[in-house]
Amino acid sequence: MTPPEVIPAAVTEGADSGNGAAQEVLRRVFGYDSFRGDQAAIVEHIIGGGDALVLMPTGGGKSLCYQVPALVRPGVGVVVSPLIALMQDQVDALSALGVRAGFLNSTQYPDERRMVEAQFVAGELDLLYLAPERLRSEATMQLLDRGTVSLFAIDEAHCVSQWGHDFRPDYLALSVLHERWPRVPRVALTATATEKTRDEIIHRLDLGSARRFVASFDRPNIQYRIEPKNRADRQLLDFIRTEHAGDAGIVYCLSRNSVEKTAAFLTENGVTAIPYHAGLDNRTRAENQARFLREDGLVVVATIAFGMGIDKPDVRFVAHLDLPKSVEGYYQETGRAGRDGLPSTAWMVYGLNDVVQQRKLIDNSEGDAAHRRQLQLHLDAMLALCETVSCRRGQLLAYFGQPGGECGNCDTCLAPPESWDGTVAAQKLLSAVLRLDRERGQRFGAGHIIDILLGKSNPKVLQHAHNELSVFGVGTDLRDAEWRGVVRQLLAHGLLAVHGEYGVLTLTEASNEVLFSGRRVRLRRELERVSKSVRAAKPAKSAKAAAVDLGPADAGLFERLREWRAATAKEQGVPAYVVFHDSTLREIAARKPGSMAELGTVSGVGENKLARYGEGVLEAVARM
Ligand code: ADP
Repeated sequence: MTPPEVIPAAVTEGADSGNGAAQEVLRRVFGYDSFRGDQAAIVEHIIGGGDALVLMPTGGGKSLCYQVPALVRPGVGVVVSPLIALMQDQVDALSALGVRAGFLNSTQYPDERRMVEAQFVAGELDLLYLAPERLRSEATMQLLDRGTVSLFAIDEAHCVSQWGHDFRPDYLALSVLHERWPRVPRVALTATATEKTRDEIIHRLDLGSARRFVASFDRPNIQYRIEPKNRADRQLLDFIRTEHAGDAGIVYCLSRNSVEKTAAFLTENGVTAIPYHAGLDNRTRAENQARFLREDGLVVVATIAFGMGIDKPDVRFVAHLDLPKSVEGYYQETGRAGRDGLPSTAWMVYGLNDVVQQRKLIDNSEGDAAHRRQLQLHLDAMLALCETVSCRRGQLLAYFGQPGGECGNCDTCLAPPESWDGTVAAQKLLSAVLRLDRERGQRFGAGHIIDILLGKSNPKVLQHAHNELSVFGVGTDLRDAEWRGVVRQLLAHGLLAVHGEYGVLTLTEASNEVLFSGRRVRLRRELERVSKSVRAAKPAKSAKAAAVDLGPADAGLFERLREWRAATAKEQGVPAYVVFHDSTLREIAARKPGSMAELGTVSGVGENKLARYGEGVLEAVARM
């Protein structure tokens, strides 16, 4: 990287109060007009020397909460982050803003490390990123003693609480920071919202007296949609082609095998897609991640091994081809879409097999009965979200204990699902399960039970003489796919249970209420093509997105600016978003600034970027 042209420490000279200085840094360094939400209060609190716990959703703007105070307070801000592979990008992004940043982790050559250490001691850095395991070595402690630390930021702080998390032991050791440097303010940040996690962070990191800032976990620019699964790969291709052609996106699958297959299928069909999972060697994984971050419009197909800390702002969609294990997981993964605030889609397909498969994983999981019970509760909450007939966003927020109404930007709001009285259907299905179990001591999976209801005399039915059962052929009023929908919904409502390797169905306490006590069952009608009806319903756009909606001529300029950005980023060896975010390019395309002064007023254009890229941008605008 070329050395920064602006030394932000100078920004603070003559600033009278922490708040005034913070505003000045925000404007001159980052090119933003105002803080968002709690940012101003958090920044002021930390500048004043207070500890803080910050819970904010992905894309909420956590980084500024410690970056701005680090630029205002004397000394170097030390950021503890487990995301070693992303440190270089973070440092590059800060360098492009003219902020002096460095990192220390195990991937560096000793020479490089020594140079960064010397810069730290000499106070020539604004921010230093550290891998958590560094802080377990006395050498690092002594290094920090030799310089001046302005604050400690503990990023991804939920690592301290998650059982079995790779980084947990290193994070647990971070309580030492407070003991050794009691006067240095600490800020712990996470996008994990549950109260349990919050309490454990406070307890483990000794943050009892820290001020807590809990933002709304709503992500209004993300449209949530969950559809019945038929042929997942075809549905995905259709979704990408019609709504997100040329966009960057993440597709999550459960197994390595389906990751590979799906990536190959998309590529064969003209969508550039790369795989990412723990079975690939380190080099391929690192290369694929780097490509995703650097190239525009690439799709990565991945297991959940991918994504933590990926701060690519222009991921336009996150697709799930398999059911996530919990609502927390779903929220975290979908949250990687649309960090830039522009409209994005969280799209998922889900079917009966997902429920059977997840149940099997729970049955086979290690750990005691209590642990398995916990996993089942997580799955139940996820199923409830899938089968809800009310607003998905409202349900998500309620899960995190936050208020929400009808959002107008999820599938259930845009195309409200019809419901029907499924009591008789449920009774037919449950009594088939009951009869097999009680009269013959047999248990079967959903496929076979549906065959019986449909009156199919296939070899398996004949072999067991199931054509002689009184329920044989009583269900011909529904099609096979509709019956699968009934089973899935009964499972989600706890009116039926599924077990073991073969996914056998059994009754629950609540099944008896339907069979014998007149409990009625309302079911959601399965739409064949939910996407189409939702698309037709013209989703409401977030205010911010609407503000930068472009007409055809401006869209042409936007594309031109993207080309300029891709070339510039390549030349400088940084991801495209390090040069400018999409949201900034859109505003430029809409406003067409004619001078450096005018360009400087666009959100996201700070002094350093103006000096570095201003001419290139003005040229591209003038050429239109
Ligand atoms: P988080 O770490 O919480 O996921 P980031 O810190 O990456 O979020 O911020 C998300 C996006 O919002 C980034 O593109 C960032 O530049 C932008 N952003 C953050 N704060 C502001 C602000 N006050 N004004 C304008 N954009 C902001």
